[in-house]
Amino acid sequence: MPPMDTDQLRQYLEFYQDLGVKTVYRRDAPLAETVKPSEDAPQPVAPKSAAPGESLLQILQDIGDCRRCRLHAGRNKLVFGVGNERSPLVFVGEGPGADEDAQGIPFVGRAGQLLTQMIEGTAKKEGINLKREDVYICNVVKCRPPENRTPEADEMEICGQFLYRQLVTIAPKAICVLGGTAAKAITGHKEGVTKMRGKWFQWRDIPVMVTYHPSFLLRAYNQDAKREAWEDLKKVLHFVYD
Ligand code: URA
Repeated sequence: MPPMDTDQLRQYLEFYQDLGVKTVYRRDAPLAETVKPSEDAPQPVAPKSAAPGESLLQILQDIGDCRRCRLHAGRNKLVFGVGNERSPLVFVGEGPGADEDAQGIPFVGRAGQLLTQMIEGTAKKEGINLKREDVYICNVVKCRPPENRTPEADEMEICGQFLYRQLVTIAPKAICVLGGTAAKAITGHKEGVTKMRGKWFQWRDIPVMVTYHPSFLLRAYNQDAKREAWEDLKKVLHFVYD
């Protein structure tokens, strides 16, 4: 959007008010900015802007009984995120499934059990003492899409502001993105996950590793993909915890 003077801004806000829109959001930057991927381990850089000092609890309170998009209609529980608020590593998935919707906790179904095994098993093999509860896990959208469909662009846009704030607040050393939908939302790249996995991208100043979604890995024919996901995870764990 081009810069606006005060009058233009007032007209813009009045226009939305006339449409019945009661809340507008000021974004510092889009959720995704496209950055060239790299094969090499990134050099950590200090974040350019400090976290604004809000807590995850404040963000959760701000979400409240959210009805900002159509996904609220079918949800049982909003799935905000789980784990260590100060974790140097955040995993981001696509959106809750049936088990997550029932419990209000991300990655607790079959895919979640695999994710837990991947995190803890890979860490153990690599000599890193790490449990699931030591990392932070969340999704791009906080409410379950009907029939587990892929979240739509406007749903990710609306909910993305909260993911954005979660990531700014936690300010992890790296983000591990699970699957193509979350990868697109976070990196802005449109290639399939097969092309993106194993490479480093960037979200603001934070290195991002893309890997396969555990649901994809549960399909029996994906032995190669499983091996690749383990490689990706090794990379990100060593980057964060060495
Ligand atoms: N798939 C996701 O992307 N997220 C969850 O929380 C569960 C399954």
